[in-house]
Formats: sequence, structure tokens, C-alpha cells
Amino acid sequence: MSSAIEDKRRKAQTYANEPGRFRFNSIEIVMTSEHGERVVSLENGVWHCTCPFYAEHDTCSHIIASQILLTSSGIDVPP
Ligand SMILES: [Zn+2]
Repeated sequence: MSSAIEDKRRKAQTYANEPGRFRFNSIEIVMTSEHGERVVSLENGVWHCTCPFYAEHDTCSHIIASQILLTSSGIDVPP
């Protein structure tokens, strides 16, 4: 491995240790719920989910779980 790549890997590790540097513009997450796979997405600051509860309430346990997962990793996501 060239030293240039090694330098990039070290820099990448430094960046990865600073989650505040990261902001997601869009995300697509496939999660397995108790009722099957759900696709949770974030587009332009708006969360969506493929489940029927989301269709009626504009939020759901899959979106909230995704927000908890990301924020617990230090990633700032929209409410
Ligand atoms: Zn859902």
C-alpha cells in the first residue's frame, strides 16, 4: 500500500471519530420490523417510511428507531 493511501486512511479515521463533520442529505435504510422489511428514507429533511402506520400518522416506530440509531452514533439528523 502506498504511503499516500496510508495517509488517507489515517485522515479518514480522524474524520470518522468526529461525527459532527457529517450531515446526511439523503438516507435509505432497510430494516426488519416485526411485520417484515420497511424502507425508511430521509429526503430534503423529511422522513418517509413504507409502513401503513406512517401513511396515516407521518411518523412511525421505524423512523424513530432510525433517528435513535443515528443520533446515538453522534450523527445529527432532522427530527
Ligand atoms: Zn414505518
